[in-house]
Amino acid sequence: MAVPQNRTTRSRRNMRRAHDALVAANPAECPNCGELRRPHHVCGACGHYDGREVIVRAVETDLDEDAA
Ligand SMILES: [Zn+2]
Repeated sequence: MAVPQNRTTRSRRNMRRAHDALVAANPAECPNCGELRRPHHVCGACGHYDGREVIVRAVETDLDEDAA
């Protein structure tokens, strides 16, 4: 098994970890439905992207229609 030849100092370890911070998501409002969505991604709520519907969602069943 490989063994480090030299001890990693607190300074070196912390310098390595200086780039490990998580960055917060930057959600943007969907121009079509107003739901928050990730930039440059299809809206998960309405399936729109760049002003047109790119994902057609399954037909929603109307419960009142079945009862009539
Ligand atoms: Zn949307």
